[in-house]
Amino acid sequence: MNLRFLQAAALAAASPLLALAASPGAPLATMYSEGAALTRDCDRGFASVRQAIDQMAARTGGAGIFAEWNRMFIRLEDATNVPELFAVIHPVKEVRDAAEACEARFKKLQTEMKQDERLFARVKAATPANAHEAKLQRDLLRDFEDSGVALPPDKRARAKELFEKIEGHRQSFERNIRDDKTRVVFTPAEMEGVPEGFLKSRKRDDAGNYVLGLDGPTYTSVMANAKSEATRERYYRARFRQGGEANLEELRQVYGLRQELAALYGKPSFADYRLASRMAGKPDTVNKFLSDVKAAAGPVERRELEVLREAKAAEIGKPLAETKLNWWDVSYYTERVRRARYDVDQEKLRAYFPADKSVEFVFLVVERLYGIKFKAAEAPVWHPDVRYYEMFDARTGKYLANTYLDLFPRDGKRQGAFAAPLRTASTATGRTPSGALVANLDRRGFNQRELETLLHEFGHVLNLLLSNVEYAPQAFTTVKWDFVEAPSQMFEEWARRPQTLGLFKEVCRDCPQITVEQIGRIEEARRFGMGMGYARQQLLAAFDMELAQRPGDPLAAWRKIESESPLGHVEGTMFPAAFQHIVNEYGAGYYGYMWSRVIARDLLSQFGDDLLDPKVGARYRAAILGAGNEAEETEMVRKFLGREPNSDAFFAEITGKS
Ligand SMILES: [Zn+2]
Repeated sequence: MNLRFLQAAALAAASPLLALAASPGAPLATMYSEGAALTRDCDRGFASVRQAIDQMAARTGGAGIFAEWNRMFIRLEDATNVPELFAVIHPVKEVRDAAEACEARFKKLQTEMKQDERLFARVKAATPANAHEAKLQRDLLRDFEDSGVALPPDKRARAKELFEKIEGHRQSFERNIRDDKTRVVFTPAEMEGVPEGFLKSRKRDDAGNYVLGLDGPTYTSVMANAKSEATRERYYRARFRQGGEANLEELRQVYGLRQELAALYGKPSFADYRLASRMAGKPDTVNKFLSDVKAAAGPVERRELEVLREAKAAEIGKPLAETKLNWWDVSYYTERVRRARYDVDQEKLRAYFPADKSVEFVFLVVERLYGIKFKAAEAPVWHPDVRYYEMFDARTGKYLANTYLDLFPRDGKRQGAFAAPLRTASTATGRTPSGALVANLDRRGFNQRELETLLHEFGHVLNLLLSNVEYAPQAFTTVKWDFVEAPSQMFEEWARRPQTLGLFKEVCRDCPQITVEQIGRIEEARRFGMGMGYARQQLLAAFDMELAQRPGDPLAAWRKIESESPLGHVEGTMFPAAFQHIVNEYGAGYYGYMWSRVIARDLLSQFGDDLLDPKVGARYRAAILGAGNEAEETEMVRKFLGREPNSDAFFAEITGKS
């Protein structure tokens, strides 16, 4: 879901120092077991990037600037991408801390660079040789302007301070969650309903009680299955206090600083400032979109909640009129209704989708669709769970890219799932891409939703690995934030159709095979809950936009918005304290998940009933996956669709009128 590793269009080159770095297609060389080694590499990388920037700034005129920029960007990637990843997933805390410190140094350097008048003047003076250079120039100039290069010196200095302070708060916010040691203890009786297989692998204390953390898979399994409402309530309350007062304070600081930042640019709010560089363009467009989603999802949500309330009344043996549905009931009764109505037990599906076979399944899908082949290969890894693969052209056998898969939870690892670029493509220098897919999936095998997650993140990885662009700053990492989720959201559909899931038997003959009838029921079950799902997303996006337009007390703003939802606000909870998106690049951008979904549904329509059609795959690869950021997103989509984009398929999915 999350792609926080995307960097704004930035910089980088080839120097003697770079000879230390791996050759273009090689795996990462150093995994680090102590912080000092990472810091040494960081120093070296920093000096190398600094040198490239200084050399660029020492020249005048626009000639050669795009090629120079590309080389500098590559140097920057080689110095920062690994620390950025290791800061949030490395098993050794000392390495994570050193990586975080490294990341902060580079953020500072990037801000300085984007405020450098000499570089700004050179980019401005350049004469683009083609359409993608013209696009690169536009993007870079906007980046410079966003960083304050056109501001008077005092304001520019203040903008730089603000960026650094905001970044410091973001790091603290995320660290508070990552290093959270909250444990919730439940007796075996309190775990009634939670699958045996899940409980077996859990830590127990001396009294035989289960000691649970707040990580995603643990939390969702318990909330979907624990029969005791008291258990669910206690766990819900613990989870929604994660981050605590400390993070609410971080948020207050961030929004104060963001408001000041917007004012420096003469913008009325942070939302106006941020949206200027998004597809949506301005807050009103987003506000209108969110109110359309609310109108479409609201009635469906209310119908679904009523079904859950009926299920609860029946289970606890109370009259409907006396039965109140709470937030901590939603997942549990959704699961009960899905089982009763559609006979879908996500837990049992784990036998169908073993982790390693699921990965092979994804590889087979992309081989059919895009003519590429993945092969496991030997390479150093940062944890024994991590797997390394190389990607080849299936027809010619030519090496194209590599990727790491880090799929299972462990202490100190960032929650959720995301894709991180380690290297991005540049045909100008022969640089081939490298990526990492990081997730917290269940190692006992995936349920169908986790299979969707795997495909989703793989959609991001493909966007990275198939980028076919001249300059690395135009590879997938710089596409607009409200577009970036579209290819990955579209790819989820490949976990939902009989045609594609039918490929599973080719990778695992011994696995139980899912039937067309089962898939039909899973799809109906997925559709049940869609109203609640979109209504919740709408709530989060509306909250994000509220703070970005009218910064105030985050908890008060959240309480007000959540109180207006059918299940209301639970006093004592503080959801914003763990809402990581709003402190990073998704701030004033959370709506982007749904905005991208509009595009995803539209893109999907081109495949029709054949999700394995290599002809459509080839067109899609050329127009979207390979194109990176070389053209405007709307233009790319229009080219693939052969018509104007629209939101019909998106709204039809919400209301079930497709
Ligand atoms: Zn995503």
